[in-house]
Amino acid sequence: MAFSDFQLNKPILKAIEEAGYLAPTLVQEKTIPSVLNKKDVIVSAQTGTGKTAAFALPILQQLFNYQDAPKKGKKIKALIVSPTRELASQIQDNFKALGKYTNLRSTVIFGGTSIEPQKDILNKGVDILIATPGRLLDLHKQDLLNLDYIQTLVLDEADLMLDMGFIDDVKKIERLCTKEKQILLFSATIPFKVEQLANSILNEPERIEV
Ligand code: AMP
Repeated sequence: MAFSDFQLNKPILKAIEEAGYLAPTLVQEKTIPSVLNKKDVIVSAQTGTGKTAAFALPILQQLFNYQDAPKKGKKIKALIVSPTRELASQIQDNFKALGKYTNLRSTVIFGGTSIEPQKDILNKGVDILIATPGRLLDLHKQDLLNLDYIQTLVLDEADLMLDMGFIDDVKKIERLCTKEKQILLFSATIPFKVEQLANSILNEPERIEV
């Protein structure tokens, strides 16, 4: 299979080529078509399998199309929730690299650093937000974040997120977004508590295992 088999726009294919990705990995092959079909997915895949691009590429593609239509505005359209700042930063690096020829704006916010620069960036407007749960809820509480226009919510490393005690935060974040969104849940393993979370928030998800 080749990346050109997915319906990806040229600017995205060009970035994939520059990243040196020759062909989709298994998780990308299985996940990208489902996400482009607007399905909810529950994906069990370890780090190192290419799982970040498995959600980043179809999100970029969907927003790239959407962007062609009305004006850009300040609406956050995709939200990726990640348990740690390191993981969140890696996700941001992937979005930056793969989205470099689109004019979609992505940013990462996490705790433990000054909130002011994050406020400024959010104020200018971003399309894709990558965040750790605590700082995300902080900014929302301060009325600095509008999650009403989220089309796609990604819960990355869900098992780790639950192990770290973020279950209530994750549920709260999900409720703060619009009801009509697509949810993509990624987890290295699917223990019972991840299964329960998926059952409570996902809509007829497709299950993908690699
Ligand atoms: P991840 O599992 O998302 O942490 O990705 C692991 C590494 O694989 C990252 O450095 C990616 O840039 C790289 N990668 C992702 N997709 C591909 C691909 N199709 N071909 C080669 N490398 C890839």
